[in-house]
Amino acid sequence: MAFIIKKKIGNGEYFYLNENKRIDGKVKTKTLAYLGKTRKEAEEKMKKILKSKIEINPELKNSEIKKMENSDSIKISIEDMAVFCKRKGFVFQSGEIYGGLAGFWDFGPVGVELKNNIKKEWWKYHVYQRGDIVGMDGSIITHPKVWKASGHVDSFSDVFVVCKKCKKASKIDRAELGKVKCDFCGGEFDEKTAKDFNLMFKVQVGENGESYLRPETAQLMFADFKLVQESSRMKLPFGIAQMGKAFRNEIAPRDFIFRNREIEQIEIEYFIKPNSDCIYEIPDEEILVYSAEMQEKGLNPEIMKIKDALKKGVIKKDWHAYWLAVQFRWFKSLGANPKNFRIRQHKKDELAHYSSDCWDLEYNFPFGWKELEGIADRKDYDLSQHEKFSGKDLKIFDEETKEKILPHVVCEPSTGVERLFLVFMFDAYHYDKKRENVILKLNPKLSPVKASIFPIVKKDEFEKVAKNIFKDLSSEWKINYDESGSIGRRYARNDEIGTPYCITVDDESIKNVNVTIRDRNTTNQIRVKISNLKDTMRKLINGEINFENAGKMVK
Ligand SMILES: [Zn+2]
Repeated sequence: MAFIIKKKIGNGEYFYLNENKRIDGKVKTKTLAYLGKTRKEAEEKMKKILKSKIEINPELKNSEIKKMENSDSIKISIEDMAVFCKRKGFVFQSGEIYGGLAGFWDFGPVGVELKNNIKKEWWKYHVYQRGDIVGMDGSIITHPKVWKASGHVDSFSDVFVVCKKCKKASKIDRAELGKVKCDFCGGEFDEKTAKDFNLMFKVQVGENGESYLRPETAQLMFADFKLVQESSRMKLPFGIAQMGKAFRNEIAPRDFIFRNREIEQIEIEYFIKPNSDCIYEIPDEEILVYSAEMQEKGLNPEIMKIKDALKKGVIKKDWHAYWLAVQFRWFKSLGANPKNFRIRQHKKDELAHYSSDCWDLEYNFPFGWKELEGIADRKDYDLSQHEKFSGKDLKIFDEETKEKILPHVVCEPSTGVERLFLVFMFDAYHYDKKRENVILKLNPKLSPVKASIFPIVKKDEFEKVAKNIFKDLSSEWKINYDESGSIGRRYARNDEIGTPYCITVDDESIKNVNVTIRDRNTTNQIRVKISNLKDTMRKLINGEINFENAGKMVK
């Protein structure tokens, strides 16, 4: 699909038409045309180009062109997203005043709020709202034997290569040596200087000790498995959830916060009795399905109900179908665009040796379809490794069969908060032509700031009421108080950071003790009694009432 991107060169802005194409299994971005210096000019030119393209390119259907013409959501590039995130205070390069450190990022005032909200919603859905998952929070520096048992010390490595032509470093797999070319210039890699490179960060502990910053959160859930199970009296099937920092010394961090050296992982290990069936109903969700067979035969992914994919044997395990649907539903429930998601089965040569089947939930990023989370079957690989290396019995007693069993991990939905952050940002990002500003249409539950309070003009009588409202609502949410600039400017500032509601104190507020609430997406306004304001806000944020029914519409 073709999309417009904006490039800043010097002081000027230039618009181009780009297209993502899959070449040799990799998504490459191609610039199709230069579109001019203004967005209006660019859009008109794009229409012409796409219309002329329809004759020569039958793949591009009429509906596709219609969609592009009417849509105000223009897919921006990852570079433009990074610029936007910096300008509005979402994400900064870490240590920017010193030139930045590759692969490390800082979250700014609104970024930290969005990140915390994503984590809170994830935890609520996976831990609070289910009876079968408990949480834990393991240490970042872990006993070195944990990483010996897990295999990370011996094999968590990439091959580090340098391009003979452009001298840039890349990482490849051992098997790719001599077969693949440099991503940047197409040059050959120097095989003589190629070396294995362990991705773990080594740290000194005490005077003589040595360990690693954890490269994943998962291993702590295996190492502590029995302590968690016994103390919380969990019965199979059950899961352990964890979120926290993990570190990978990536050779070539790239794509803004997509591939970092410091990540915040968010992960579940779900344990079952070996070979037992799924005990839950599979949520009724429809998604693009891309099986190993479709990939091998060069076919396109198909829209399917996840349930049906299981029935047809496309998805082999009921537990996998269940977890894919559960995870996809979470994204949808928080406003992610379902059309940007697909599930893709690993081909045989991608499978880990202990895994019989693996599916990724993928998202259509501006730089191509990329993994969001893997739904993999790990069997008892990790628990038995830790039994072997620790000499401890990690089996649990099964009341039903009166036997001791070592549970299997049937899946480990695992992802990074930074990737979730990008998904919600890309799907929320809209440019509104009428308002001439960006509107971040985040779900109110995720919005960094839930409401902004404005006194209509800077006068004591308005400010007093507005400050009291600010104080009241701030006990529950992040609220802004904004009294500078025109109301229009204040609305625009809040649209851009995704604030769903702007509350204005005006003349009528003094007379009738009420305020107006303005809805970010529609700009509609309602009047609400100040005494009902907090309750109304709670219902609006939680999606329990429609905006139009929450108060008296202002004409
Ligand atoms: Zn090169």
